[in-house]
Amino acid sequence: MTPETPAETPPEKPAIIPLFGLRPAPSAAGPRDQRPGISGLAPGELEAWMTANGHPAFRARQVLDAAWRGKQTTFAEIHTLPPALRDALDAAFRLDTMAETEILETDGGLTEKALHRLSDGLLIESVLMHYPARGANRERHTLCISSQAGCAVGCPFCATGELGMERDLEIAEILDQVRNAQRRLVADGKHLTNIVFMGMGEPLLNLDRVLASIEALNDKARFGLGARHITVSTSGVVPGIRRLTALGPQFTLAVSLHAARNPLRDVLVPLNRRWPVEEVVAAAREHAATTGRRVTYELTMIDGINDTDADADALAVLLRGDLAHVNLIPMNQVAHTPWTGTPIPVVERFAERVRAAGIAVTIRFNRGTEIGAACGQLAAEHAGQPTPIVVQRRRERIVAQSAAALRGERSLEPVPAGTGEGSA
Ligand code: SAH
Ligand code: SF4
Repeated sequence: MTPETPAETPPEKPAIIPLFGLRPAPSAAGPRDQRPGISGLAPGELEAWMTANGHPAFRARQVLDAAWRGKQTTFAEIHTLPPALRDALDAAFRLDTMAETEILETDGGLTEKALHRLSDGLLIESVLMHYPARGANRERHTLCISSQAGCAVGCPFCATGELGMERDLEIAEILDQVRNAQRRLVADGKHLTNIVFMGMGEPLLNLDRVLASIEALNDKARFGLGARHITVSTSGVVPGIRRLTALGPQFTLAVSLHAARNPLRDVLVPLNRRWPVEEVVAAAREHAATTGRRVTYELTMIDGINDTDADADALAVLLRGDLAHVNLIPMNQVAHTPWTGTPIPVVERFAERVRAAGIAVTIRFNRGTEIGAACGQLAAEHAGQPTPIVVQRRRERIVAQSAAALRGERSLEPVPAGTGEGSA
């Protein structure tokens, strides 16, 4: 999850952790509700459906208003519509694709993690982070959303990567995470101010649906959030970055770099075996030059692995002169690795070395560590814990791979399956 708390203000310990009652996820997905989610429809598509089904086109606006601004979660509750239309809509669409949602709070209520169950039983996560007003900065409410259930990239420090790939989310499943959070905020007289695609999944491997959902978020008739308040994070899908560049400035691009040197990045971000770090940075540099928007680079800092002076110097050489901003985030511990987050003094030393090369660096804390708010942690826990022997083998494999990488040896492991260019 993208942390935005500056290092000077560590998050407080959680005050309330409500019980989490969702049933454990089934090991395999069940049958899916085939009715599309209504939020995934563009106004023109819904108007066409109305006309084709003998209803006046203006009803489309009423339905989308209820979907984007109303509190209703079923069509039966939209009383401004005639009963026959409510029934017809219910037969054709779902008003909400989140079958169940449970909320966990931490950081004294400043972080709310939502665990959503989809119609086929898969679990995904979104995290709502509240940032109170400070000085000249107005209060912000940032939502971190998922683009896939699971992820094929398989970064070893990431709980979603360890889950493996389940499936791409539908457009409405992406958007309904936003509607869910907005409904909770509006009940308190507040609104979402920022959205980041930094939850479960690799957005650029589900790019068509991610772009369609961003169009809905930008659209004043639907969510109406400006492009500069949306960030998409990628582990480095180069064709996807190029496609975004061709579209022009749509949102902020964040690149999960984690290491500037190929042998280590091959292990930390297995997609590096397909698109090595120089290619990723070249595509990001082109994106910044074409769109005029600064690219953000994320580095999850792992104690003794990617936080040495040599790593900082390699990063400085890689990014020198670029329109870039680096975020350093100590790793949130996950069960299947032996690794821990880099201690703050070491992160600060790393930051100073990179800043000395003229590159902007911010140190950030992960929000919600106590409730496993790092990418996919909670869904992974609900998918069932692996046996101790499986965890031990994974740990041994990760240690052996990273030790070879630290000796400068390139990985002989294959590119992860399921990370073809897909819709990128
Ligand atoms: N797949 C995309 C977006 C989702 S992951 C990507 O990798 O960019 C979003 C962010 O969560 C990534 O920057 C990732 O490095 C970070 N993350 C995953 N696991 C983490 C952990 N255990 N501790 C800290 N950050 C983590
Ligand atoms: Fe996938 Fe991102 Fe997690 Fe890597 S960090 S496994 S790309 S979700």
